[in-house]
Amino acid sequence: MVGRRAILVATSNPNKLREILDVIGDLPAEWSTLGDHPPMPEPVEDGDTFEANASKKALHYATHCGTWVLADDSGLEVDVLGLAPGVHSARYAGDAQDAAANNAKLVAALAGVPVHRRTARFRCAIAVADEERIMISASGTIEGVIIDEPRGKNGFGYDPHFEVLDYGMTTAEMEPARKNAISHRGRALAELRPKLAALLASDG
Ligand code: IMP
Repeated sequence: MVGRRAILVATSNPNKLREILDVIGDLPAEWSTLGDHPPMPEPVEDGDTFEANASKKALHYATHCGTWVLADDSGLEVDVLGLAPGVHSARYAGDAQDAAANNAKLVAALAGVPVHRRTARFRCAIAVADEERIMISASGTIEGVIIDEPRGKNGFGYDPHFEVLDYGMTTAEMEPARKNAISHRGRALAELRPKLAALLASDG
């Protein structure tokens, strides 16, 4: 094709956007975000899995704006809570995407649970769609434990309460480059990158 392929990154979360473009923003595409487009209706994220929701989101926005769309869906699974909050992570404590309220609810739900039973993971699924289909997808996880006292100022969401045992740090204490190297989103993006590079290279 003439010029670079336009790809909309379907997120309005600036932290996610930075994490995504840090890993794949150098690929030869014309990147945009939701804020660069006229308002579009929001997708219904009612899938049972992160993969289903990422696919729904990507196809929804691709159909509306007619460009390729990259969408991610992610969240936290806590083993002792039966994998909650899972696909409901963003709205665990209610409708508002309020990280402080989500974290307070999480800490309360784990009151009295010893450290060795606080195992958890972040999961991320990414899908890239055109108007008709999902063209490529990838996913990643990172294992950790949930701690009561928040630590760290980087990151977002549940990061201050998610300690990666191998590093003795929460993901909010990590520099963005380190978080990206080991995080669920970083791993999903590392898997996606060669697939997207090949797709762009074959785009005629
Ligand atoms: P999504 O926008 O539907 O993918 O919602 C993801 C939600 O999961 C976010 O609002 C956060 O609460 C949580 N989450 C996902 N990824 C991360 C992360 O890297 N750090 C902290 N929280 C995350």
